[in-house]
Amino acid sequence: MAWDFTTEPEFQEKLDWMDGFVRDEIEPLDLVWGGKAFHPLSDTLRKVVDPLKQQVRDRGLWACHLGPELGGEGYGQLKLSLMNEILGRSGWAPIIFGTQAPDTGNAEIIAHYGTEEQKERYLLPLLNGEVFSSYSMTEPQGGSDPTLFTTRARRDGDEWVLEGWKYFSSNARTAAFLIVMAVSNPDVSAYKGMSMFLVPTDTAGVEIVRNVGLMGESLHDEDAGMHALIHYNEVRLPAESLLGGEGQAFAIAQTRLGGGRIHHAMRTVGICQKALDMMCERALSRQTQGSLLAEKQSVQNYVADSYAQLMQFRLFVLYVAWEIDEYQDYRKVRHDIAAIKVLTPQVLHDIVQRSIQVHGALGVSNEMPLGRMWMMAPIMGLVDGPSEVHRVTVARQVLKRYEAAPGLWPTEHLPEKIAAAREKFAEYLELEVANL
Ligand SMILES: Cc1cc2nc3c(=O)[nH]c(=O)nc-3n(C[C@H](O)[C@H](O)[C@H](O)COP(=O)(O)OP(=O)(O)OC[C@H]3O[C@@H](n4cnc5c(N)ncnc54)[C@H](O)[C@@H]3O)c2cc1C
Repeated sequence: MAWDFTTEPEFQEKLDWMDGFVRDEIEPLDLVWGGKAFHPLSDTLRKVVDPLKQQVRDRGLWACHLGPELGGEGYGQLKLSLMNEILGRSGWAPIIFGTQAPDTGNAEIIAHYGTEEQKERYLLPLLNGEVFSSYSMTEPQGGSDPTLFTTRARRDGDEWVLEGWKYFSSNARTAAFLIVMAVSNPDVSAYKGMSMFLVPTDTAGVEIVRNVGLMGESLHDEDAGMHALIHYNEVRLPAESLLGGEGQAFAIAQTRLGGGRIHHAMRTVGICQKALDMMCERALSRQTQGSLLAEKQSVQNYVADSYAQLMQFRLFVLYVAWEIDEYQDYRKVRHDIAAIKVLTPQVLHDIVQRSIQVHGALGVSNEMPLGRMWMMAPIMGLVDGPSEVHRVTVARQVLKRYEAAPGLWPTEHLPEKIAAAREKFAEYLELEVANL
């Protein structure tokens, strides 16, 4: 019987250290430099941030999503899940621990498909936390349907030429390079006709037209607006910019997004736990109409429902992390990752919403992190594909199992089946009647 929910004491020690470190040293950064996490560090900020990163390295906890061949610890997804629960509490924590999206997924792509020179030039600085990267797939006319993508990559002698528009390329304005998906063969299906390219952001023709901000961000705050609308205007690239072969973009993207989606969910467990901590703290410290909030039944319902929802979600996330470690193949757990992806915004929304409610006016103030946490719910319903699309993946996979093994609960001949069951137990049915 191998199902086990315990954590090895040595690893628990690491988690305990992380927990204290994130609370005491990193969460204060969110209160002072909340929007700066993906900006290149100023000399002043470097004095604050670099020593924190060094402490993480000294503890052997830097970039733990990576295997040892890339300088990580190779802990696997289950341990990473427990770590990400802690890192999810803070916007800065993934940066300080070298596990921030989208850089994690982009690093994986270059590690697998980049040339030695690309690894030297882009992967190493990315892994060392010296540069940022961006993933450029969504287009203005459609994100969730890749068959609508029109950005074109055409071969011209030794070069590739990119032409088209991309939308919501996060962090492009501070990134050293972009990973761009483009149609290299329009004559076959989008799933076979798209390729992936590594594009240094300073290449001629990469034109960031606008940096779109998120709701709640000021239109006039220069640090806000991290999601670029980009015109790839006849961008000329050397042949080796192609990552992983012509027509391979979709297969590569699925590997990258599979990991990315489950990592978002792991961090979401941390956000939800933080919201629940705050809810309980408030319930036990606020009096109204003669009693603590904790004694009001509605508030008890909020606490109980949030705890139950979080436990369900957390166990599912840990289970999927375990499955990935077990199978070493994201494709085998695609439907479970998709199911987690559907749950993520819902659980996040419900728990944070209740926490806000229990905090009253303070909950919606800009002195509390709840507003930012709450906004993550709709974002989680969109990034890496909208929930509706993932529901389709789940349903298709689940139905496939029944198609493969029909007859589990057929509804034909029901009256005959009921009659046969009655016949089988006729003796006992008669006894029951006799005993009445
Ligand atoms: C904060 C943030 C950061 C992002 N960062 C990046 C990034 O770095 N790089 C990148 O390439 N993209 C990024 N995106 C874009 C994201 O991947 C897209 O928003 C997402 O894929 C949906 O595409 P869309 O916005 O064009 O919505 P659309 O494709 O227009 O879909 C709109 C809505 O239509 C409905 N819908 C769509 N398809 C179906 C369906 N099959 N069945 C039923 N209903 C459906 C859903 O309600 C969906 O939300 C980011 C988005 C956000 C919000």
